[in-house]
Amino acid sequence: MKAFIILVGTELLNGMTVDTNSLFMAEELNKYGIEICSKITVGDNIEEIIKAIEFGKSQSDLVIMSGGLGPTMDDLTKEAIARYLGKKLVVDPEEYKELKEKFKKIGIELLDNNVKEVEKPEGAVSFRNGAGMAPGIYIDGVAAFPGVPRELHNLFPKFLDYYAKKNNLKDEIYIKDIIVWGIPESHLETKIKHFFDQKDIFYEFLVKDYGIVVRLQAKESSKNLVEKIIEKIYNEIGHYVIGEDGKRIQDSVVSHLKTLDYNISLAESCTGGQIASMLVEVSGVSKVFFEGIVCYSNDSKVKRLGVSPETLKVHGAVSHETAKEMLDGLEGDVVIATTGIAGPDGGTEDKPVGTVYIGVRIFDEYYIKKYEFKGNRERIRRYSSMTALFKLLKMLEKRVEY
Ligand code: ATP
Repeated sequence: MKAFIILVGTELLNGMTVDTNSLFMAEELNKYGIEICSKITVGDNIEEIIKAIEFGKSQSDLVIMSGGLGPTMDDLTKEAIARYLGKKLVVDPEEYKELKEKFKKIGIELLDNNVKEVEKPEGAVSFRNGAGMAPGIYIDGVAAFPGVPRELHNLFPKFLDYYAKKNNLKDEIYIKDIIVWGIPESHLETKIKHFFDQKDIFYEFLVKDYGIVVRLQAKESSKNLVEKIIEKIYNEIGHYVIGEDGKRIQDSVVSHLKTLDYNISLAESCTGGQIASMLVEVSGVSKVFFEGIVCYSNDSKVKRLGVSPETLKVHGAVSHETAKEMLDGLEGDVVIATTGIAGPDGGTEDKPVGTVYIGVRIFDEYYIKKYEFKGNRERIRRYSSMTALFKLLKMLEKRVEY
């Protein structure tokens, strides 16, 4: 089954908004084995939108549209669908009533043009918008959703559930993601590519800022085969695995901290709170997160963490010795310390930009290592945070295993 995506919105063409909706839709469609054959972006122009629908229909079984479902003059998607299908736009009194209630609830006056949000081509099915106003609609192989990502996220799974049932599509695709860190993509491939010899299993490597995702995708009936390959992958490169599916490195770290009943504190210099920010993305982290200090200046390292001025003078802030004293300066069963030169300025011959000391302490077990990361400031900081959490995860895993 093939789907064609139409993204509607002039702001997507002039660079004001980056399209993320089609990425989300792709992930969701994947789950049902629906392939996206093409996607197209059109501005808020009714003739262009109609042309896009005509083209999409000629290429696919299902046209999916996002954007242009709101109340303003430039919201033309439903009118375009109605004109393409030769139907009139109608309003379901029940849906209008619900819209009025939603407005009342948030204390905003409903204007005449708001009725547009519940207009739909005659005969269309609606999907209730649990995150905004305009419902999603489906009629004759064309579906349309609001452009606001959180509204699309709310509506799209509801539509797919309906569509899969209607067309007897089983939830037939099995996807397994393994996320790894600490090994370059080419090395990773060399180590595991000989496992990928089954024709019916689709493999890919996706480089993300949270790690390299090794994705295996197959029919639900081949799930056992996929799991056997996953086992082989774990035996070969298990040391680099930091999570599976939606589980990121911070989820894995927090889950191990909880299992071991350890708390954690952070002394962050060059990562500037990024590790803390990653940890607090995990709900329930308050059970294990004691504190995080952004000790950016030398004075802060001395005052907040008790790093000795002598150490800073003799060895510098970016040094093994300073990292060690940072680790000792905080309470906590587990402490992470980062100190480095994120650049673009501040590098020396001895300590070029990208030099970072990462320290991890679990009680009196210490790990301190110098890294030389490459890239711009953002990449150096990201790699520092990820590598610190990676090292901690591997140290925690050993303790969980015992
Ligand atoms: P509204 O009721 O807000 O008018 P709508 O269906 O008319 O909803 P649009 O006006 O097209 O939606 O888009 C609303 C906002 O959603 C845009 O300003 C933009 O920030 C965001 N948006 C639209 N399309 C996309 C997309 N493809 N990817 C990411 N964000 C998008």
